[in-house]
Amino acid sequence: MTVLSPGATIGILGGGQLGRMLALAAAELGFDVHVFTPEDDSPAARVAARCTRAAYDDTAALAAFARAVDVVTFEFENVPAATVEALVAAGAVVRPGARALAVAQDRLLEKAFLTEAGAPTVAHRRIDGPDDIPAALGALGAPALLKTRRLGYDGKGQAWVRSPADAATAWASIGAAPAILEAAARFEREISVIAARGADGAIAVYDVCENRHADGILAETRVPAQAPSATTAAAVAATRAVLAALDYVGVLAIEFFVMPDGAVLANEMAPRVHNSGHWTQDACIACQFENQIRAVAGWPLGDVTRFADVRMLNLIGDAAADWRAHAATPGAAVHLYGKREARPGRKMGHVTLLSNLRSSNGG
Ligand code: AMP
Repeated sequence: MTVLSPGATIGILGGGQLGRMLALAAAELGFDVHVFTPEDDSPAARVAARCTRAAYDDTAALAAFARAVDVVTFEFENVPAATVEALVAAGAVVRPGARALAVAQDRLLEKAFLTEAGAPTVAHRRIDGPDDIPAALGALGAPALLKTRRLGYDGKGQAWVRSPADAATAWASIGAAPAILEAAARFEREISVIAARGADGAIAVYDVCENRHADGILAETRVPAQAPSATTAAAVAATRAVLAALDYVGVLAIEFFVMPDGAVLANEMAPRVHNSGHWTQDACIACQFENQIRAVAGWPLGDVTRFADVRMLNLIGDAAADWRAHAATPGAAVHLYGKREARPGRKMGHVTLLSNLRSSNGG
């Protein structure tokens, strides 16, 4: 197992806000960060020591990047498999590895893997064309949710199917791409588990969080989750099983639906730091970004103890214009991603509101 010393360089694929917060956490531990992104003027590159701006299929740029860094990690799960292969061929260590990416990139493989690993998922069927939809709808019940197998995020690439007559429109609306049809989960709440696994196999799990989505995008995360302890324990056990099955190194997030009987169904996994874990920056001893860096650097994991209750609000689109009010709110921590332009649905920043702080003077 390679253990990186301070001064080493951590390579990050992707230049978005997750890369930015990873770069800041890496800097806190004395590492330099080298970002690889096709994007110009990216949020991560602006806080990193170095940036390569190149396409993910630029093999010469990837080889040079592999030589320039001591380990490679990523901030989004749609890194092409060929990019990781090119990096590994050029001698790079990529954490977490290609298998976690492959599983997370395809909803059908992901569901099969999660079920096999011990995290049950929503009933679903494989859809290769609009003609597959009526029978699948009959088996799953209407309405059901059509989702592209690949490249869907924040509710994109999804369409509700209410009757067999919707098949052609729904198929066209998701871009006529290989898909799955999912039974509607009549969940009571949504929770997620953020956990880290070190290169030595040690696992640290943050307190389970509860999420509220609006228009398919995370709007708010609260901790602690309002769910029975047997429910949160089941979600944590499933997450531990997935980490072990993948021999995972880094931070992993799994989103779950909590059903009326308290059972949990895994919705999806993210082989990376996750939006629903941003509260750990302000309410835990070591946040998810620090633990991702520690894990990929071969360090012991940091303490995930939480010392306050939290609400994390995403600042989406124009909501980021309220930064002054948030900055003036007691107990609020403001995080802005430095994006030049606010567009509808674009994550511009987040605010963490802390309450019930545990302090040593009894306050
Ligand atoms: P996803 O892109 O799969 O994470 O879905 C985004 C959000 O859509 C989820 O967090 C849920 O709020 C909702 N959703 C996804 N799948 C289902 C489902 N099978 N039944 C009901 N709601 C769903």
